[in-house]
Amino acid sequence: MAVKKMLPKNNKKILSPPLVETTRVVVVGTGFVGSTAAYTMMVQGVASEIILIDVNKNKCEGEAMDLEHGLSFVKQSRVWAGDYSDCKDADVVVITAGLGQKPGQTRLELAAINAKIIGGIIEQIRHYTDKAVILMVTNPLVTNPLDVMTYVALKKSGLPNYQVFGTGTTLDSSRFRYLLAQEFGVAPDSMAAYLIGEHGDSEVPVISHANLMGENITSFKEYDQKLVDDAYNHTKNAAQEVICKKGATYYAIALAISRIVRAILFDEDHVFPLSSLLTGQYGLNDVCLSLPSVVGRTGIKRVLEVKLNDEELQKLRQSAKIISETIKSIKL
Ligand code: NAD
Repeated sequence: MAVKKMLPKNNKKILSPPLVETTRVVVVGTGFVGSTAAYTMMVQGVASEIILIDVNKNKCEGEAMDLEHGLSFVKQSRVWAGDYSDCKDADVVVITAGLGQKPGQTRLELAAINAKIIGGIIEQIRHYTDKAVILMVTNPLVTNPLDVMTYVALKKSGLPNYQVFGTGTTLDSSRFRYLLAQEFGVAPDSMAAYLIGEHGDSEVPVISHANLMGENITSFKEYDQKLVDDAYNHTKNAAQEVICKKGATYYAIALAISRIVRAILFDEDHVFPLSSLLTGQYGLNDVCLSLPSVVGRTGIKRVLEVKLNDEELQKLRQSAKIISETIKSIKL
């Protein structure tokens, strides 16, 4: 049967728009977290191009090859081991590169070393782009300073505040939701709860807004103060616990990265508790920490200042103080 060509009357060729817009994500650091984040984004079809960069070129190429070999099973995307020139057309750059703590090394020494590494990476990225949104994940110590690294990255980049931010307490909030959901007998995504402040020990659970279908969790018969305290403590210790058992944490953070990147690329205006530079929220300035943030194509479009009770506010201020002290101790 002949196929009839449907041409317009004036016989002009119709230029169809590209079926899919090219979206490019560059992942710097292809250790456990970076490579698992790349895998998750590839499986979930989040971006059409995923590029890996690492100082360890061999490992980086190996990770890219391993991912490419699975491309026939998932939505089509292109994956390769690249270099900083690939940041030129990047929509998002995810930074997961960094060094872990060595025996005898102090917290501050490590923070200073990683600040230098992050500074160098940002410089190279900025050589090629001022457009990409930069998502910080590097958190060289379990007991901190993602918020400090986010501050370093922002200041070194010279980019607007909304364009450089960290995953913050997104992962912690997911852990907290999971643990509370277990206690209340509901699915984790039905439990609305989050933490703000430092991605670390001083993070603040916002119980005054933790709810199930709009009803505060304290109104339910399942509520028990000890149960919530246990969930909070378990959340804070979770990373250390997983690291003790298997050496690193990467699945949950990779899912968090993939979800945030999707919100950026699809201009979703989704709200996550992300770490960004505060500009007067709750009277706090010149410090990066997590608050609920509206995320879309340009990065953080708005930081929400929800009403906190006195205890939450006091804890948030304490958390900000802890981060500020570390920021001050690093010579930028
Ligand atoms: P890893 O040691 O497996 O990987 C780090 C990678 O960074 C290595 O491949 C290394 O070669 C690379 N690297 C080091 N210096 C570099 C540089 N200058 N340029 C490019 N690459 C460089 O560590 P991991 O388990 O993948 O963790 C990565 C980071 O993510 C750590 O800081 C970890 O603490 C952090 N993390 C954060 C969260 C969070 O919630 N934000 C959760 C889990 C892990």
